[in-house]
Amino acid sequence: MLAVGLLLSALAAAMEPLLPALMKPLLDNGFVPRGNGEVADGLLQRAPWVVPLIIVGIMTLRGIITFTANYAMSWVQIRLVNDLRQQMFDHMLRLPMSFFEQTPSARTITRLTNDVNSIGGAATTVGVTLIRESLSIAGLLAWLLYLNWQLTLVTLTVAPFIAWVTKKVGVRLRNMSRASQEGMGLMTQTLQEGIHCQKVLKVFGGQEQESRRFAAVNEEMRGYALRTAVAAAAGSPLVHFFVSIALAAVIYTALLQAGHGETTVGSFVSFITCMLMLLAPLRGLAGVNLPLQRGLAAAESVFQLLDTPVERETGSRQLERASGRIEFVDVGFAYPGAERPALAEVQLDIAPGQTVALVGPSGGGKSTLAALLPRFHAPDRGEIRIDGIALADLELSSLRRQIAIVSQETLLFNDSVRANIAYGASADATDAQIEAAAKAANALDFIRALPEGFDTVIGENGGRLSGGQRQRLAIARAILKDAPILILDEATSALDNESERLVQEALEHLMADRTTLVIAHRLSTIERADRIVVLVQGRVVESGRHEELLARNSVYAKLHQAQSVVAG
Ligand code: ADP
Repeated sequence: MLAVGLLLSALAAAMEPLLPALMKPLLDNGFVPRGNGEVADGLLQRAPWVVPLIIVGIMTLRGIITFTANYAMSWVQIRLVNDLRQQMFDHMLRLPMSFFEQTPSARTITRLTNDVNSIGGAATTVGVTLIRESLSIAGLLAWLLYLNWQLTLVTLTVAPFIAWVTKKVGVRLRNMSRASQEGMGLMTQTLQEGIHCQKVLKVFGGQEQESRRFAAVNEEMRGYALRTAVAAAAGSPLVHFFVSIALAAVIYTALLQAGHGETTVGSFVSFITCMLMLLAPLRGLAGVNLPLQRGLAAAESVFQLLDTPVERETGSRQLERASGRIEFVDVGFAYPGAERPALAEVQLDIAPGQTVALVGPSGGGKSTLAALLPRFHAPDRGEIRIDGIALADLELSSLRRQIAIVSQETLLFNDSVRANIAYGASADATDAQIEAAAKAANALDFIRALPEGFDTVIGENGGRLSGGQRQRLAIARAILKDAPILILDEATSALDNESERLVQEALEHLMADRTTLVIAHRLSTIERADRIVVLVQGRVVESGRHEELLARNSVYAKLHQAQSVVAG
């Protein structure tokens, strides 16, 4: 399609002189009387419809060619942007957790929505213009050289200046494009937070603060846009300025040459005309600088994302269905850039089907420990094993098939209840299976009461459901997945008694016969756990059953006492 577009664009350009070319025979033979005074009696007189017909014919043909050329170029441009978008999205899905922790989501969003758009324009229009104008310049220069090589050399002395200006302007334009891409990310982030934090914003009276924050980014963007406009507008007059200097030098040299009788009026006029004709393609090139630099800045941003390494697949071993034994052997892990490790020397051996509660002060490393199991992060030291196989030797998809997660922030999609329960690998579950999962999660009654039952769309992140209902949906999803290992990040916020009971029951169904790692906050879960592991500053300081730890009267006993007071 690109070849078709380029070819037809060239053809359309070549047809441009056809009309003026037609004027010559028309004027010469159509109107002018012959030398003897008689009016000519040629083809044009006998068939006066020929030329008008040719004109319409040429215009029609040219219209069709131009249309097809534009269509082909747009096709390429749209296709390019779409393919890049899809590639970016697919790539993003495979990026490691660390990327999402370090990159603001708004920046990734604007890369996909905004930045990539500028590449399409650069790749096609800019390409065509660059080729066409460079060719015209080369042609005109060749003609100039042929006419008068000395004068041409004089003309060419300004070429480095023009190149310098174009480059300077280009760098400026690129920097501004880069900055405004970043600015767009910041603006989107402000917007996102303005929408997302509405409740806090309203109650804490944050409107003015947010408005000021938005105004600051908005103002920044205005600055970039204005500076871009200045740089783009400065390019053309500067080029013209240097051309005028060249013109002055040419006239001066030509006059000197004329003094020596080396040049004629005819060749001088021809030379000057040709030189002035150079202006149009030069202006074209200067004008293309903006979309070109914008496109290059966009390409940087897009390919930076595409070149971010995806999650590393370190092993290839497959695990059909694990029995659920988990071992942590001397595991240490530090977040990139963190001063002290989030986990150090962690030893844990969990038998299949056991429930292990992770407790400890906030920031102790409970979530980090749980995040190592699905290999959201790889440990820096030591090894984690499932059924005796090191996680590093397992294929990621095979490892993750063994694990279900019910997290504190219940992550739901703006889709039907059914689609939320039967998500991902469980997408082809039958209605009976989905209902059974919902029933086990104590969710069937409330789902049936929804206006469209399982087909009810639950809104952004389940906005149309209550907190307890959202949790039970997340539990139903985990039950349907039926993975041998479960990671449970208990909600800290207390539900009302009835919801609490329903959720608790649902969890009991879910935890049965599974190895469960609970990031525990509720006393009930902790007390019934097979083992309690107390994490303080990334280290396991105590581990054992509830009674044992209480009897020891150390860290856990103190935590428990503090919680009991609160709970009581
Ligand atoms: P807990 O779940 O027990 O509250 P975490 O595992 O969340 O503790 O955190 C352990 C430590 O790691 C804390 O000091 C925390 O600040 C740090 N941490 C947690 N997540 C990240 C992250 N994504 N990047 C850098 N440091 C983190």
